[in-house]
Amino acid sequence: MEATQEKELLRGGQFLVKETKCEDVFTPEDFSEEQNMMKEAVMEFNEREIIAHKPRFEAKDYALTEEVMRKAGELGFLGVAVPEAYGGLGMGFVSTCLTCDYISSGTGSFSTAFGAHTGIGTMPITLYGTEAQKQKYVPKLATGEWFGAYCLTEPGAGSDANSGKTTAELSADGKSYKINGQKMWISNAGFCSVMIVFARIEDDKNITGFIVEYDKNNPNGITLGEEEHKLGIRASSTRQVFFNDTVVPVENMLAGRGEGFKIAMNALNVGRIKLAAACLDSQRRILNTGVQYANERKQFKTPISDFGAIKTKLAKMATDAYAGESATYRAAKNIEDRIALREAAGNTHQEAELKGVEEYAIECSILKVAVSEDVQNCADEGIQIFGGMGFSEETPMEAAWRDARIARIYEGTNEINRMLSVGMLVKKAMKGHVDLLGPAQAVQQELMGIPSFETPDYSELFSEEKAMIAKLKKVFLMVAGAAVQKYGPDMEQHQQLLIAAADILIEIYMAESTILRTEKNAKRTSEKEQAVQIAMSKLYLYNAVSIVEGKGKESIISFAEGDEQRMMLMGLKRFTKYTNYPDIVDLRNEIAEKVKAEGKYCF
Ligand SMILES: Cc1cc2nc3c(=O)[nH]c(=O)nc-3n(C[C@H](O)[C@H](O)[C@H](O)COP(=O)(O)OP(=O)(O)OC[C@H]3O[C@@H](n4cnc5c(N)ncnc54)[C@H](O)[C@@H]3O)c2cc1C
Repeated sequence: MEATQEKELLRGGQFLVKETKCEDVFTPEDFSEEQNMMKEAVMEFNEREIIAHKPRFEAKDYALTEEVMRKAGELGFLGVAVPEAYGGLGMGFVSTCLTCDYISSGTGSFSTAFGAHTGIGTMPITLYGTEAQKQKYVPKLATGEWFGAYCLTEPGAGSDANSGKTTAELSADGKSYKINGQKMWISNAGFCSVMIVFARIEDDKNITGFIVEYDKNNPNGITLGEEEHKLGIRASSTRQVFFNDTVVPVENMLAGRGEGFKIAMNALNVGRIKLAAACLDSQRRILNTGVQYANERKQFKTPISDFGAIKTKLAKMATDAYAGESATYRAAKNIEDRIALREAAGNTHQEAELKGVEEYAIECSILKVAVSEDVQNCADEGIQIFGGMGFSEETPMEAAWRDARIARIYEGTNEINRMLSVGMLVKKAMKGHVDLLGPAQAVQQELMGIPSFETPDYSELFSEEKAMIAKLKKVFLMVAGAAVQKYGPDMEQHQQLLIAAADILIEIYMAESTILRTEKNAKRTSEKEQAVQIAMSKLYLYNAVSIVEGKGKESIISFAEGDEQRMMLMGLKRFTKYTNYPDIVDLRNEIAEKVKAEGKYCF
């Protein structure tokens, strides 16, 4: 904590304009003894209770999901993030992410139930509940006596979450609300006892949140649709929920009237980084299964893992998992530190947690998009490594692929999260929380100046890579700065541009996090010990540079013409040019050989 106060803690989004030292990032190698013990316990639980019963999950055994959730509650895993005062373990945000990470790889069915319950099912009460609401509900949720669900989506209100038609009408005596409406895609609906329900009071602009109890034997006007038959996460209960004159006491309103949209969005921020964490161990597991198969499977009298085509896949799968870990735990610790700083400044834990997570909403969106796409790609390549067998239900890849697919859709689709990440950054700049204008103007000046022809000294580890990251940040500032100047508030209408800018932003955060993690570890061990991690960091950056180059070009051409276009394209070229290009084939081989030799993800 003291260390946190001493160093300057970057605000959310500031990574783009301020340099982060490697000593200031948290890495998985920094897990405390307690965190490592938690990791071991969760991994053991995953093996014993989830992976051992995988076929039952695939056969839509919803009761098993509930049973395993109950066991997770008994062991305290549902209450990791819940303060001790409310029956939880009161562990920090890093431990929360770590638990999500290592509990989620067995099956997406359990990970969805776990995520929906501990995140959006419980957090709205811990973050926004009154003392009485927290005392009444949170201990039951933290221990798994009750399960939570989150009812936001409706048939006509998905991404446009504030447009729901569900209503809440105050009774004549002012003591209760009557809820009427239809919700859909509600995870955990089949076995929950508490629902966080969003409804509109009269013609309010914004929806309001309510805590609604659900008892099958006394349903209070609540009926459930049949289980949805889904592509993946087959044993996760997903149903429609109908409210017909459901009576909810006024004291069950969450926060104030019209505060529901804010609650919904903030609960999703937490959900997004936790979802990213939940996609990490799946990647490790898919890679482990893939490399073991590739080492054994022979074609043309050769183990297929010896083929360059397969090595390319193994290297990318390992690198993406490593990058995902690096960025997720970096952001998780930032959130934890921000919460601690706010508590030290006198905020209650509740206020501190709310503000702490809100602060890093940009990073949460970045992570959600990046890691959900990585796990999908990883599972896809997993199938490819298995060839025809990958397409069979008898091997684990097809279920992994089907389960991974949902992560791009829920907790805000990746399109929405891409646009949010840039939108939130621009808003932060307007509020003065992140100074984008100054650095953007400096880039404009630089574009008009004469480039330096000096050859920098890049002999130190990552010196060229860090210079490259600084240049990629200039690309973002150049592109986003010029676009904001050109379109002003209409920028929102230019979605393709926003999405391209988001892709640039995402690559910068992921690549920087990867490099900083490895640099930190190389300093405390040696470059030799971190050789493969160095290779992964360089490989990730190389691919990031190509993405930034492509997205930057597409953007510039779309909004700039003539001399301006030429100047910006020249800038783009300068900002994406290596002095010493890394040999990507060598890097991939080095990474793949290590994974092959160990027969697993070993970083
Ligand atoms: C298995 C599963 C579990 C779920 N669990 C829950 C839950 O527990 N609680 C809950 O409340 N919800 C839940 N959801 C709902 C989920 O959050 C929504 O499906 C998601 O937010 C997308 O909404 P939608 O399905 O209506 O798609 P739409 O909003 O109709 O989107 C369709 C497509 O259009 C795009 N799009 C939409 N608006 C825009 C825009 N403005 N600009 C650009 N593109 C846009 C989207 O990105 C998407 O590609 C779950 C969904 C599934 C499938």
